[in-house]
Amino acid sequence: MPESLPWNSYSSYLEEKYGYRIWRVGVDAGFSCPNRNAQRHGGCVFCDALGAAAAYQRSFDGSSVRFQSIKDQIERGRTFMKRRYGAEHFALYFQAFSNTFAPVDNLREIYDAGLEGNVWDALIVSTRPDCIDENKVALLSSYRDRGLEVCVELGLQSGSDEILKAMNRGHDVSCFLRSAQLVRNAGLELSVHTILGFPGEGEEELALTADVVNRSGAQFIKLHNLNIVEGTALHAQYLKGEAQAPDLQEYVAKACFLLRRIRADIVVERLICETPDGKLVAPRDFPDKNTFVKVLSGYMMSKGFHQGDLCI
Ligand code: SF4
Repeated sequence: MPESLPWNSYSSYLEEKYGYRIWRVGVDAGFSCPNRNAQRHGGCVFCDALGAAAAYQRSFDGSSVRFQSIKDQIERGRTFMKRRYGAEHFALYFQAFSNTFAPVDNLREIYDAGLEGNVWDALIVSTRPDCIDENKVALLSSYRDRGLEVCVELGLQSGSDEILKAMNRGHDVSCFLRSAQLVRNAGLELSVHTILGFPGEGEEELALTADVVNRSGAQFIKLHNLNIVEGTALHAQYLKGEAQAPDLQEYVAKACFLLRRIRADIVVERLICETPDGKLVAPRDFPDKNTFVKVLSGYMMSKGFHQGDLCI
C-alpha cells in the first residue's frame, strides 16, 4: 500500500505493475440487460435508460436511444485521450449494460470487432453475475491467451440478499459468488462493483458486503455512493420520501467502514459515483472525485485507519 493514501489505489497499482497508465476506452456495444425486461419489472431501481453508458456512447431523449458505432466510439475515445492526456496505452472497456448478454458467437464477433488492430493492452468486460457461464468465460480466456490482460467486472452492489431484493437486482449473493469463482478459476481478473448507502443498509449489511468481496477472490473493487438519478424507480421512491442518498459525511463513514474490512491487497479502482449533472437528483452537494479522495484520506489518516486493518 503506498505511503500517501490509506488504501491500495489503482494509479499506484498501474505504476508499480506497468510503469505507466493504461487508459480505458469505454464502449457501448448496444447490449441490453436481462434485468430490464417486463418479467423482471424494469431493472435495478437505481438504473436509468442509459445503463451506465457515457453520453458520447448512447443518448436517450426520453423516447428513443441514439447509438454510436463501436468503431466511432473507439476512435473518438482514443483520439481524445491521446490529445488531452498524451495517452499511449489503452484498455478496451465494454461498459454499458450487461456485456455478456448474447450468445457466445455474437459476443466473439463484437469483442473481435472492438479489438481490431494491435492497439490494446487489456480487455475489460462489465456484466451481471447471472449473465456469465463457462462458455462465455472460456471465450474471455481466449483473449488472455492472445496476450491481453482480461478483467471481468461483476456487479455485486451489496452483500445482503435483502438489500439486493430491494434494489430489484434479480440475483442473490450466492449467484455472485458462483460467477466470481468461474472467473477466478479461469485465471481472469475480477473487479467487484458495490453501491453504498442504499436505504436499509446499516453496519451489519456493509460488513456482509465486505465479507462477500473478500470471499470472491476479487483483485479490484469499485465503490459507488448511492446516486438518485432522474426518472428511475428510486427517484419515485425519493419523491415519496421513501429513499435518500447518503450525504458526504455519511458516505465517508460508510466508505471507511468498508475499506477497513476488505483485504489490504484489493486494488481500489473507484470511490464515488459520477452521474452527469443534468440527471443527478441527489446528493447535490457532493464533491468531485479528487476532493473526495482528500476528504476520505484525511479522515482515515487522522484516525490511523487503513484498508484491511479490520479484515478478519
Ligand atoms: S444490471 Fe446494470 S444495466 Fe441491468 S438494470 Fe441493473 S444496473 Fe441497469
